[in-house]
Amino acid sequence: MAEQSGPTYLVIGNGITGITCAEVLRAEDAAASIAVIADDPFPVYYRPALKDYLAGRVHEDKLWARSRSFYQDHNILFHVDRAAAIDPAKHTVRLQSGRKLNYKRLLLANGARSASLNCPGTNLQGVTTLRSIADYQQVLERLNTVKRVVVCGSGASPELPGHTSSTPQCPVVRSA
Ligand SMILES: Cc1cc2nc3c(=O)[nH]c(=O)nc-3n(C[C@H](O)[C@H](O)[C@H](O)COP(=O)(O)OP(=O)(O)OC[C@H]3O[C@@H](n4cnc5c(N)ncnc54)[C@H](O)[C@@H]3O)c2cc1C
Repeated sequence: MAEQSGPTYLVIGNGITGITCAEVLRAEDAAASIAVIADDPFPVYYRPALKDYLAGRVHEDKLWARSRSFYQDHNILFHVDRAAAIDPAKHTVRLQSGRKLNYKRLLLANGARSASLNCPGTNLQGVTTLRSIADYQQVLERLNTVKRVVVCGSGASPELPGHTSSTPQCPVVRSA
């Protein structure tokens, strides 16, 4: 696919790091063209607040780290896509959709991934990590119909009952 002329500043990642960077760049350079690419379709949100959302202490509208009009107000383009390859010599990023973007300066703000279990069954329905809004929404959807939830790892506290009509059993598995 043909290369598309890209922004002066291209940021990969729409987490708090990427968006703060884009915000600071805009404050420093009113004329710059700035774009953010993220494979998460939601506007930037407070990831640590997701566990409070799951526990029912925080409403979804309090998750957003910036206003809905933030991108437009700051003239920042937001592409929902995944960066698949970077060619630093040509200053291009190839996206999963096949598009290619040029950039002058590139910031990698692609964060971290949840560690996954290395055992059979992790691809079964109902097995998920807890990192993105989509993960949490999937868990919330299932909670009213499950009897038992197993939490592997103690990072995200198993405060599930806030959203359920019945209390599921919730043992926690930690590595010794
Ligand atoms: C449940 C939970 C609770 C937490 N609690 C705390 C806490 O209490 N205190 C604390 O300090 N930290 C906490 N953290 C960690 C904190 O959320 C992270 O440190 C923080 O989110 C890092 O921000 P980031 O912007 O660097 O990366 P991320 O938030 O990981 O954002 C990375 C972005 O990059 C995107 N991305 C990744 N790869 C690609 C790609 N190839 N192409 C396009 N986009 C891509 C992702 O979709 C995402 O938008 C918690 C995390 C979780 C999940």
